[in-house]
Amino acid sequence: MIAGFARTLGMVALMAAAIAVPVSEASAKEPLAKTLFGAAKLPAALPAKSFGFYSKGCFQGGVAIATDGPTWQAMRLSRNRRWGHPTMINLIEKLSRDAVADGWPGLLVGDISQPRGGPMLTGHASHQIGLDADIWLTKMPSKTLSATERENMSAISVIKSKGLTVDEKIWTPEHARLLKRAASYPEVERILVHPGIKKKLCETVTGDRKWLRKVRPFWGHDYHFHIRIGCQPGSSGCKAQDPTPSSEGCDDSLAWWFTEEPWRPATGPAQPKARDVMTMASLPKECRAVLAADSPKSELAVTIGGNGTAMAAAAPMPEPAPVQAAASSVTSALSAFAPTPETQIPMPRPRPRQ
Ligand SMILES: [Zn+2]
Repeated sequence: MIAGFARTLGMVALMAAAIAVPVSEASAKEPLAKTLFGAAKLPAALPAKSFGFYSKGCFQGGVAIATDGPTWQAMRLSRNRRWGHPTMINLIEKLSRDAVADGWPGLLVGDISQPRGGPMLTGHASHQIGLDADIWLTKMPSKTLSATERENMSAISVIKSKGLTVDEKIWTPEHARLLKRAASYPEVERILVHPGIKKKLCETVTGDRKWLRKVRPFWGHDYHFHIRIGCQPGSSGCKAQDPTPSSEGCDDSLAWWFTEEPWRPATGPAQPKARDVMTMASLPKECRAVLAADSPKSELAVTIGGNGTAMAAAAPMPEPAPVQAAASSVTSALSAFAPTPETQIPMPRPRPRQ
């Protein structure tokens, strides 16, 4: 209702603007970053590095996951969002192999990043620095999907159409095993899922439960889950996220999601989405060079096909690893589940306007 009303208002405003007012001065001067990054077809052929934050940044040296591998199929190919930091792409490939060994029939790979990251014309607020990926919670069919099927096939929500709990007819122990596997890698800092999925895991996981710490409830994420890896060595310009709490998160922070508060429609005047106002000035300064950099000679040259090795768009140049990134990567390698400082609960976050 509210969304519809807002949309109507927006359309009226748009039409009025088209009739009465020329393009505003600001937008005439400075194109939106989403337009520039959305137009990039290939990555910046430079050593792999992320700049900025997951929701405000870009990256260079991206590689693509092949549309098809022995244990995955990439979806929504027309979006050209199969790009990520080489560590991310290698991780998805590894997850796909491990998942199959665990009894999941293969991954349907959703959006990763645009070739050079940056804000997108549609969809995600994050996924901007090559360190986020969406994996469908739908099992991969045994047949190879056509390009059309990959555009149009719907993912299946594991949450009941009315309510906040998993649909027991759809949810399987293999779903839980897949999430556990994804959380098992030291590079993975967070897995975002619908609160109903987190609740199900809290209620059913036996034995080792330490991995639940990484599985965080969030809006959406009932059709897919979201893997976020940490800033990678060599990316001194990458801004790390807050560490996840050390607890399992099966506590008040989860209970909050089952109150009315997180689902109440936002009130007050509609705020523009960040991507609709972000210009290059909003992004780290390195992102201009990322946009301007040469492309690799072809997409194929920077695509990984399933042998487990991805090359950056250009051979990495020797660079001393920044102290902070090196330290955190060593820590996570030693213990993926090392305790991290407890943060406040509950953790209200800006909610999407629906
Ligand atoms: Zn996502």
